[in-house]
Amino acid sequence: MQISKRLDGITGGGSDGWELFLKARAMVAAGIPVTELTIGEHDIRTAAPVLQAMHQAALGGHTGYAAIPGVDALRAAVARRVTERTGVATTPENVLITPGGQSALFAAHMAACDVGDRALYIDPYYATYPGTIRGAGAVPVAVQARAKNAFQPRAADIAEAAQGAKSLLVNSPNNPTGVVYSRETLEGIARISQDADLWLISDEVYDTQVWEGEHVSPRALPGMAERTLVVGSMSKSHAMTGSRIGWLIGPEAAIAHLINLATHTTYGVPGFIQDAALFALQEGPDFEAEIAEPFRRRRALAKSILARQNTVGLVPAGGAMYLMLDIRATGMSSEDFAEDLLETHRIAVMPGESFGAAAWGHIRVAMTVEDAAFERALATICAHAQQRAAACVNENGPGGKPGPRIFPTA
Ligand code: PLP
Repeated sequence: MQISKRLDGITGGGSDGWELFLKARAMVAAGIPVTELTIGEHDIRTAAPVLQAMHQAALGGHTGYAAIPGVDALRAAVARRVTERTGVATTPENVLITPGGQSALFAAHMAACDVGDRALYIDPYYATYPGTIRGAGAVPVAVQARAKNAFQPRAADIAEAAQGAKSLLVNSPNNPTGVVYSRETLEGIARISQDADLWLISDEVYDTQVWEGEHVSPRALPGMAERTLVVGSMSKSHAMTGSRIGWLIGPEAAIAHLINLATHTTYGVPGFIQDAALFALQEGPDFEAEIAEPFRRRRALAKSILARQNTVGLVPAGGAMYLMLDIRATGMSSEDFAEDLLETHRIAVMPGESFGAAAWGHIRVAMTVEDAAFERALATICAHAQQRAAACVNENGPGGKPGPRIFPTA
């Protein structure tokens, strides 16, 4: 039997850029110690009181079919949180509880796009974006945020691609770059969304991980609440990646349609998970700050290590659990550099290309191992890059200038 074209085409064919991650995982499985700085998963597990709340809820009988849009108390708690954090009046009818942010991303594109519609997203991007768009039957169109613009997308570039498009997906704080979009960037995005009549899909799953600057939710900008769908998740903010709990915020009418989608796809989120999520949200901002704290600390450690050398550049970024490092001085592609680093030092990082052409010449480092191991790994990455950069200079003559390097897109 033939599989549908839609599913067959979900990955777009070719490499998904995650070979290095899989190789590192295979090495670990074979007993080879690897410092894994690859995926965005905390080095702590879900907090015990949250698990106790989950256990209590299950023992208390919340194990049957749960309310599909989300239980009332959780929808209300999410609405309150969004109102408090963004200043936009938000009611439970604006909230759909979903099995994680990923499910919300898919639902948002199902709401915004018909089959064959153009759906814009910003490159560098979270790995699932193009596949999610294809899965919803739309056509993914990348708009590059360039390294030379500190990975802030430019309004003019989006405007150029926006003609005839239906939606624009943005993500701030950003995975993979860590960049927090400036108010000016977001105002430009809001203006284009209105001019080109786009749905804006704003992925804000890292909204509790802001180290510098401010997180602006574009839904709060004038005229945007009616055309913005906000993706939220407790995976990163509450270290609940495996619980699969998140939400989508949007206009009431859109949420009503999305409840129909949930009825015919996920059929909601288990009640005991929702109760645990409610408990975790009620722990308040201090709990969220505690979960975010290791990344803030490690980012400071990284900055001081990087300040002692000038081979590896740190993308000026103010959020999320990642560092984007510019390794172009080595003259190597980021795939070659990451491969070489894994072979030589047993340190696994993600090549920039895994997140799109705009991240060429960069590597993404997830700050997800304990402080001492993280410091050691970062110092090693810098020393390794220095060595490779020196070799590149030697190869390219006494002038000390590396040969012409081609930066295809960044
Ligand atoms: N959006 C971004 C930018 C992410 O980095 C992730 C996960 O890493 C997700 C969405 C999906 O998160 P989840 O489905 O665990 O809520």
